[in-house]
Amino acid sequence: QEIPTIQIIDAKNYVGQTVKIGAWLRQKRGSGKLAFLQLRDGSAFFQAVVVKADISEALFELAKNLKQETSLYVTGEIHEDARSSFGYEMAVSNIEIIGESHDYPITPKEHGTDFLFDERHLYLRHLKPFATLKIRNTLIAATYEFFNNEGFTKLDSPLLTGSAPEGTTDLFETDYFGESAFLSQTGQLYAEAGAMAFGKVFTFGPTFRAEKSKTRRHLTEFWMIEPEMAFMHQEESLVIQERYISFLISKVLEKNEQELDILKRDKDLLQSYTELPYPRVSYDDAIKLLQENGFDVEWGVDFGSPEETFLANHFAKPVFIVNFPKAIKAFYMKRHATREDVVVSADLLAPEGYGEIIGGSERDTDYDYLKQRIEEEGLSLEEYGWYLDLRQYGSVPHAGFGLGLERLVTFVTGEEHIREAIPFPRMTNRLRP
Ligand code: ATP
Ligand code: MG
Ligand code: MG
Ligand code: MG
Repeated sequence: QEIPTIQIIDAKNYVGQTVKIGAWLRQKRGSGKLAFLQLRDGSAFFQAVVVKADISEALFELAKNLKQETSLYVTGEIHEDARSSFGYEMAVSNIEIIGESHDYPITPKEHGTDFLFDERHLYLRHLKPFATLKIRNTLIAATYEFFNNEGFTKLDSPLLTGSAPEGTTDLFETDYFGESAFLSQTGQLYAEAGAMAFGKVFTFGPTFRAEKSKTRRHLTEFWMIEPEMAFMHQEESLVIQERYISFLISKVLEKNEQELDILKRDKDLLQSYTELPYPRVSYDDAIKLLQENGFDVEWGVDFGSPEETFLANHFAKPVFIVNFPKAIKAFYMKRHATREDVVVSADLLAPEGYGEIIGGSERDTDYDYLKQRIEEEGLSLEEYGWYLDLRQYGSVPHAGFGLGLERLVTFVTGEEHIREAIPFPRMTNRLRP
């Protein structure tokens, strides 16, 4: 009978059968009579046990001398194993080496973070990056699922642009056949054009910001999901935002139990974040709350990490802070109906110190007002002429938001630092590998 070649994750379907698995050796321990091979194949992790008495002398010698990260085919019978955290193991009957490995740099001892990220191309193979990036993958797939179910069209925005809506700081500039181009900081204005054509759209792609400050929450290259919805006001947009976040967390709880356990993330706590609605707190009330609790903040400032952490922890769940001061928000945000000084905006702040995960607003619909705001901000009318066109030809109420994928991954996985949330992080001091 032919021996099936399987993936480790499917081992549960082959208990009592002999199978072959292509894998890498993570770690090895042993005694004179046994060798325990910790294996991974990209689908999961498990242990293969080599018993000297059951195999040839030569094969046992080979097993004992295997080096970390050697690639192999191992053949053997699958058993349940309640003691191993992965539930199954293999009793090895044969091993074939595919690719040798020597002096693998990431040994089982403790390594510093800088070293691990210098070796990120190899560090990806390890338990924690595996778990974190599997969860990232679930969040990406669930994003498409959510917006497809809601009737959105994915509309890609350009990464090379001639203009810079979020202001002229923090921009990466590059030469474009003799003129200046900028790497996109957001796809939002293009998404607005898309919403006027397709009703409900979302962009999902990399965005770039030359963030000079070093924080645990900022990358220079990060992925943003930017939905934009025509014929929609802010309150309906907030409902979509909270349903989206709740859906994503539920998907991770459903699909990534093993990964959440590897990361020791509290699943009950995550479950509590799926309960809706999230509180809505005005910026005014947020400032009062902060002042009452000893923060030295004045009306008009943007929140930093300590303020964001306090506010979301106060409610023990994600919280919307609504109606920010106009002066600290982008030019396109809608004026408040009764107040001059605030705009119809909302930031969604995550608890446990994970900070702002969404920024969004209703957009102003008035041509003259937006033209004036563009001028006030010192932006070029020439560059934004196309955007003003959207207010000339059938302007409608519309709203949208931007979610930073890596912020969300950091929050859901419980990682300390956003660099863990992307395969190859780009930060002020990191461009390689
Ligand atoms: P922050 O206040 O944290 O600097 P922001 O208000 O500048 O964020 P927005 O322009 O509102 O960010 O962008 C929308 C979302 O993109 C943010 O809510 C956040 O999730 C994410 N984001 C913004 N800047 C970064 C960054 N440098 N690295 C990773 N994600 C980011
Ligand atoms: Mg910022
Ligand atoms: Mg902000
Ligand atoms: Mg923001």
